[in-house]
Amino acid sequence: MPKEKEDAAPKKAAGRPAKKAPQLLRGFRDILPVDQPYWRWVRNTAESFAAGYGFEEIGLAILEETSLFSRSIGNQTDIVSKEMFTFIDKSDGSLTLRPEATASVARAYITHGMLNLPQPVKLYYWGPMFRRERPQAGRQRQFHQLGFEALGDDNPVIDAQLILLAYNFFKALGLDGISIQINSIGTPQARHEYVKELVGYFRSKRKLLPVEEKERLSKNPLRLLDSKDPVCQQLRADAPQLMDWLDDASKTHFMKVIEYLDELDIPYTLNPYLVRGLDYYTRTVFEIWPGEQEEGAQSALGGGGRYDGLIELLGGRPTPAAGFSCGVERIILQLKARGIALPHQDTAEVFLAQIGDAAKIKAVTLFEQLRTAGIRTGESFSKDGLKTQLEAAHKHGVQYVLIIGQKEVLDGTILIRDMESGVQEIIDFKKTVAEIKKKLANGSNSGQVNGL
Ligand code: AMP
Repeated sequence: MPKEKEDAAPKKAAGRPAKKAPQLLRGFRDILPVDQPYWRWVRNTAESFAAGYGFEEIGLAILEETSLFSRSIGNQTDIVSKEMFTFIDKSDGSLTLRPEATASVARAYITHGMLNLPQPVKLYYWGPMFRRERPQAGRQRQFHQLGFEALGDDNPVIDAQLILLAYNFFKALGLDGISIQINSIGTPQARHEYVKELVGYFRSKRKLLPVEEKERLSKNPLRLLDSKDPVCQQLRADAPQLMDWLDDASKTHFMKVIEYLDELDIPYTLNPYLVRGLDYYTRTVFEIWPGEQEEGAQSALGGGGRYDGLIELLGGRPTPAAGFSCGVERIILQLKARGIALPHQDTAEVFLAQIGDAAKIKAVTLFEQLRTAGIRTGESFSKDGLKTQLEAAHKHGVQYVLIIGQKEVLDGTILIRDMESGVQEIIDFKKTVAEIKKKLANGSNSGQVNGL
């Protein structure tokens, strides 16, 4: 009990009991400034892909009725049975922090009557998700997903274009050599028949299964196919194959998807054991892995598929749909692990240094002028020494430092120092913004002193 712990070892400072600093919750992370360039890179790339492929951004509610997830994802799944952050609200009953966003997208489609829009409705989202999993590398309790969903169309070209988008997205991020695993799990009816066969087969081998897999056998038997357990993996080779139980329409649909992928020259691996595990999936399912060799338990970068029955299940009109989502933290882990250099990000272009009180006042005003002119300007107004300020300018990596001291205040001038060549020039204070703009537009320093 935390109370007992605190009582047992009271630490005292100056006669007062030490207060314990609030702790960050297990599996939750702050995203520090040092990591923000990675986040911006992924988000900007995702947004440019959304625009390029005609997906409009939707901001979804983070808190939803619990039944939205239990009905769509399925009560027997790990997510719903073990991992949701659920609580009872005083007036609204059982609520849950969203563990994923596809169910919310389907709910939003119904809530906002999107079936009246031209179909397919193509939506892009980005945001935090919450699952009470055991935290480890690449597995957090609050993590972020970006996702693309196309609702209102059952044409296989949609599935193929989503996979193409995912493939190109990872390439654009700098993550080459990703592996796309793909399978079809057919209609719920076909799957129902298949699962009966599968359960029959695994029951006959029940004694060989570890406890966790026995539990899967009774709760979510399809997951025995993508189990990481070696015994299970051995047994599944002789199990009835899902492909043999697919209905004809699902088979034709799948063949079409594959045809498109071949035409588009997208590398993929047919994985007959890929099932995705969530109840709402139908027909095409796929996952994105960092590479063929790296299929560790936590390394899938993303996944998705069709969910043709979901909107009807939630009370909407029958509406076919497909989509995929990716884990942002895992993408960033990959970018870091591969040492991928990010393209140049917005840092300061010039630095403004000042010496003396009168200069400080002029500098603060000039800073505003530079900022409103769109020039990214660094400063350390709270520091007085030039040396410290030049060190700060150096850290910013700027080429030009503007220096204003007592003399410049009196003369109505300012000094521009080129940090690369060491050349300094004095210009009319009033012309600072125009002069700096010109220099930045020229890109590089000519090395010439322009004079006043
Ligand atoms: P899922 O729908 O569960 O396959 O999740 C899609 C993607 O979200 C995964 O491929 C991961 O990249 C990411 N993801 C899922 N769960 C977590 C988690 N607990 N922590 C970090 N990323 C996750």
